Amino acid sequence: MKIRIGHLYPDYLNIYADRGNIAVLARRARLRGHELEVAAVSLGDELDPAAHDLLYVGGGQDREQALIAPDLAAKGAAIEEAVADGAAVLAVCGGYQLLGRGYRGLEGSDMPGVGLFPHETVAGDRRMIGDVLLECELEPGSKRTLAGFENHVGRTRLDPGAEPLGRVVAGFGNDGESGAEGCRVGRAVGTYLHGPLLPRNPWLADWLLAQALAHASGGDPPELEPLDDVLEARAHNVSARRAHGRGGRF
Ligand code: GLN
Repeated sequence: MKIRIGHLYPDYLNIYADRGNIAVLARRARLRGHELEVAAVSLGDELDPAAHDLLYVGGGQDREQALIAPDLAAKGAAIEEAVADGAAVLAVCGGYQLLGRGYRGLEGSDMPGVGLFPHETVAGDRRMIGDVLLECELEPGSKRTLAGFENHVGRTRLDPGAEPLGRVVAGFGNDGESGAEGCRVGRAVGTYLHGPLLPRNPWLADWLLAQALAHASGGDPPELEPLDDVLEARAHNVSARRAHGRGGRF
């Protein structure tokens, strides 16, 4: 099948090799006989809610976020419609913040958000930086760990009852105190973990691909044939060990 990815603002939100996430999706799709097509959707472009099986938004500094925030917020209705129709979303760091209700950045600048994720973000006075380990349960009964790297000044508060992507085992997460990291709404997930995220967490790449394939086919998420993930598992373990060894939080 063809999996259509809409990459939002690749020219603005692209720090920390977040593009590597797309490379992982493309390769893992190809190894299962699927084709991945990536279309850039940037400032001033129309976002057709039916045109993409997965939307990807990367991370960025406050300056880049402020440049695209009003344009992204104007695409909010289309993004919500796409997710309501079963499209998958992966939003990382700066993109994750702006898919919530808004972000007050370091300079006090108020950036509007999309409102897809039930959260708000305000810049704090200390940067939360380092390796992170999470425990996730995206499918009931199937617990997985997610390892990555965070670097953000924004503190994200989830609304009561909102579903985080995972619980923090080591690291800061959304705000350094709630123990929650990221957010999930249906097939949309947002997270502070980048670095990039998917090469060392192939199970999440496959979960996203399966959701995108379900959107493309109109059926259920398929069971994807396992791949040889020996190197990926090693990368995950190195990252997880670093997170454990990180000691205190601040
Ligand atoms: N500028 C945001 C913050 O510092 C997001 C950073 C990022 O995307 N790495 O909180």
